[in-house]
Amino acid sequence: MRGGRRERAVFGVVLAIVLGVGAGAPAGAQRALLTAIARPMGAAEAGASDASDAVEESGGSSAEEEASERDPFASSLAGGRLMRGFARHRVLHFTFDDGPRPDTTPRLLAHLDEHGVKATFFVVARGFDGRHRMDRRRAAILRDIAARGHTIGAHTFDHSRLTALEDDAVRAQLTRSEAAFEAVLGGRPVLFRAPYGARDARVDALVAERGYTQVLWNTTAGDVRARSAEEVLEAWRASLDRRERHPRGPGGVVLLHDTKPWVVNAFPAMMKELRTRNCALLEQEGEELWDVLDDLSVFHQARGADVSARARTVELDAEWVARRQARLRREARAYCASSVPAG
Ligand SMILES: [Zn+2]
Repeated sequence: MRGGRRERAVFGVVLAIVLGVGAGAPAGAQRALLTAIARPMGAAEAGASDASDAVEESGGSSAEEEASERDPFASSLAGGRLMRGFARHRVLHFTFDDGPRPDTTPRLLAHLDEHGVKATFFVVARGFDGRHRMDRRRAAILRDIAARGHTIGAHTFDHSRLTALEDDAVRAQLTRSEAAFEAVLGGRPVLFRAPYGARDARVDALVAERGYTQVLWNTTAGDVRARSAEEVLEAWRASLDRRERHPRGPGGVVLLHDTKPWVVNAFPAMMKELRTRNCALLEQEGEELWDVLDDLSVFHQARGADVSARARTVELDAEWVARRQARLRREARAYCASSVPAG
């Protein structure tokens, strides 16, 4: 699959030029780029069914390589089992649905950069190819999401409940959405999340037909019901407590909405909560720290014949975990020493 690799590299460079990466790349994005990122290019093509294989593939790549090969659609994650994020490690990945929205998404992007976090955005595609001022604004934000190194997934054309649609209407939701992404970014997502989580075996088959990997979730912060940052933070703390007790392990895919102002307002405090917990964990012998992953690659497992098969609980490669934990501990020692203990 060397050819595919080169094509992606070229695509990445062209995209970088189109998007103007580098010209205005924020410091946070640069910093995150330089950290070791598990983005196993080519893992899916090689038929890797085990996340630890995938992780090892990326071990030797330099930051420069990462930059040139960065693919906003994480195309290597196509054709996978339904992911929910279960893992026997304290690993999280943030996902944001329903945007972009001009009055909330740009502020969230700034917070993500400040905290060096890369997320996956499940985007509603209607209007990207439109001529209205709002459509152009949303398209510009979509380009910005990609330029900052986040992953873009599909969330249908107009946020329809797919289980209520005929087969052809479901297919139209997918193909119209793909055309809109093509128009703005020159490519289409391979990750997909059904609005309202409304899916069944029939929808799974139609989605799989187009090569998508569906991304479910196992962690939220109550942001659909919440109306304030305080409520989100409270729900986040309760979610983390539940993750700690979960029989399938603490790992998770976090579902939030970048269209909710209270999510944007709560995000810095949510990150602070993780840091505070890490300061406590640092004091406990043998405890892993919370690790916010840049993409969903560790959760990817190649799909077999069963389009509704869910990914197994992830067991990560021990050496990979040890490397990341060593870095997290160094960082944590620095900020835990300088911050006032939470009281
Ligand atoms: Zn949605």
